[in-house]
Amino acid sequence: MHDHRRLGRELDLFDTDPLMGAGLPYWLPDGAVVRHVLEEYVREAERAAGYRHVYSPVLGKRELYEISGHWDHYSEDMFPPMRLSGGEEVVLRPSLCPHHALIYRSRSHSYRELPLRIAELGGMYRSELSGVLGGLTRVRAIQLNDAHIFCTLEQAVEEARAALGLIRRAYDDLGIRASRYRLSLPADGGKYVPDPDLWRRASALLEEVLDGVPYESAEGEAAFYGPKIDVQITDAAGRESTLSTVQIDFHQPERFDLHYIGPDGGKHRPVMVHRSVIGSVERAVAQLVEAYGGAFPVWLAPVQLVVLPVSDAQEERAHDVVRQALARGIRAELAAPGDGTLGARVRAARLVPYQAVIGEREADAGGAAVRLRDGRRPGAVPVDELLDRIGARDADRGAELWAAA
Ligand SMILES: [Zn+2]
Repeated sequence: MHDHRRLGRELDLFDTDPLMGAGLPYWLPDGAVVRHVLEEYVREAERAAGYRHVYSPVLGKRELYEISGHWDHYSEDMFPPMRLSGGEEVVLRPSLCPHHALIYRSRSHSYRELPLRIAELGGMYRSELSGVLGGLTRVRAIQLNDAHIFCTLEQAVEEARAALGLIRRAYDDLGIRASRYRLSLPADGGKYVPDPDLWRRASALLEEVLDGVPYESAEGEAAFYGPKIDVQITDAAGRESTLSTVQIDFHQPERFDLHYIGPDGGKHRPVMVHRSVIGSVERAVAQLVEAYGGAFPVWLAPVQLVVLPVSDAQEERAHDVVRQALARGIRAELAAPGDGTLGARVRAARLVPYQAVIGEREADAGGAAVRLRDGRRPGAVPVDELLDRIGARDADRGAELWAAA
């Protein structure tokens, strides 16, 4: 495996600046492409699974987190509040849950609407110590792939299981390997909500969700409001971290006094299932960079096609091919003769899945001599056919670059 911090700089994916601050990386254009594709993938998978997306602000009043319990149980990880004129205090949010609870509460809900699945790729902030910050894995500003499912008690296990299924499919599609499943439980101490019955009930439901899945239990790894299933990954240095989670929560529906109208016409308390499919976008991209060593599959590659005219005489034709590719939604770039010898340009583009070399013969025939990243050379191919093939690989998210047509 590779170190994503080194590759991130070498491949111009992301970087940091001391003036922006530690743990606050910025994304360069190639990194932004990977992130954008990943975010769209997740939104599409969520839409297909019946989620509705929302946006909510990254700030909230201090009272919001007092109600949610973050203030009592999680303030060590939060940035200090900002005091506005008039005495109001606002906080950079440490999680999206309270906002989603308020969104649910803003409208009345019948049991017929449940399960109600609210998703958001939203920002949250964690006041990590500067000594532990680095790359994309330990950051202070986090873009979280989050969702909350508001459902009846009877629906909770099935919803949590479906969320695990969504995580498994995403890992398959993305080429991420889970190192293990962990049932994260509380430990003694004041960090956790003191309600033994709540912990017992939620843990029992999560054990049911994990029925048939090999997992290990870990005390002291729960969220302050409830136990969770953590899907663990391992980085290049062999360090384990949590990427995805599924939680069943009785605490926040109680704190926010959430309810739905049941078939009996009376008010009932919903359960909140918290889940994240790819965790934070930062950590997911770090994992992808390390897993592929920068040689991303076609659909995730920042540049999918590089067009290389052999000499200045073919440069206009090469420009034209790039324009055609861009018009079809293919991420293409020109590597002009001015950038170096053909050999040097080929080497510089070694991580790009497709290279199209255009010499005099190819320019005359309306084609390109194709080289694949894996070393194969399909030879002269009409430009239309090449672009069709790249478009098809992009759409099917496959790993194969040149499947039999
Ligand atoms: Zn949550």
